[in-house]
Amino acid sequence: MLLEARKVTKRFGGVVALHDLDLQVEEQTIHSIIGPNGAGKTTFFNCVTGFLVPDEGEILLDGQPITGLRPDQIARLGIARTYQTIRLFRFLTVLDNVLIGLHPHVHYGVLDAVIRSRRYHRSERAAEREARELLRYLGLAGKEFVVANNLSYGDQRRLEIARALALRPRLLLLDEPTAGMNPYETGQMITLIRRLRDERGMTILLIEHDMKVVMNISDLVTVLDFGEKIAEGKPAEVQANPLVIEAYLGRGAASGLGTIAAQAPSDESMSDAGS
Ligand code: ADP
Ligand code: MG
Repeated sequence: MLLEARKVTKRFGGVVALHDLDLQVEEQTIHSIIGPNGAGKTTFFNCVTGFLVPDEGEILLDGQPITGLRPDQIARLGIARTYQTIRLFRFLTVLDNVLIGLHPHVHYGVLDAVIRSRRYHRSERAAEREARELLRYLGLAGKEFVVANNLSYGDQRRLEIARALALRPRLLLLDEPTAGMNPYETGQMITLIRRLRDERGMTILLIEHDMKVVMNISDLVTVLDFGEKIAEGKPAEVQANPLVIEAYLGRGAASGLGTIAAQAPSDESMSDAGS
């Protein structure tokens, strides 16, 4: 198991956003977390990435406890994420957005930078090569000098992933990567996520509201409701689980699991700020 959460509880005042949550993510799998709005999905991401500290329980990466570490420390240990609401340096170029992600891996000191030493130039060139390679991988070649703000929505989502990959993570957390995408962009995103697992050996933990996406790419699905795990299993098992159907349909929705996406508009929830 690459990631393990043990009895994680997180409260916000009277709200129990996560309650005694056990969750294990196996290496080189695509593991989806689904559940109605407010189920605690983003809160879980925030706990894993150190933006929030759980009130109880612990989280381990590859057997090492990471609970209580700062977000930058956790990032260095190999966990990268994207956000439910796109966060880019909107007025920087595509290339610079990725170079910022690469920063922890650039090896030169302040002095090297000031005197523009050979080490500085070599390091910068290597970083740029790596950034360009990542952009090519994500289908953003040729857009290196476009200002992020001017990219299409789908491209912005991909750029966020490029920046996360620049951290060279072992575990990638994607918070509703297809939110707001058209069917074509969603199809491309599915292909990309699968390639990350198959070609790069990555482990992906995915929060996703589009059931078609979830059923299509997940190795395992965990269903949360009111901060608790109510089901877990292969996509088809989860889809047929009465508890799961009730968690969604019990809230006034009209039809089956295939349309869960339609009743769960991507919220700009408070916890997404990771504050
Ligand atoms: P999901 O991502 O599954 O939609 P969230 O993790 O965003 O759910 O939210 C879970 C619950 O915790 C909700 O009731 C939400 O209002 C609450 N919550 C999340 N973040 C905060 C916060 N920073 N302060 C107060 N309440 C929060
Ligand atoms: Mg959320």
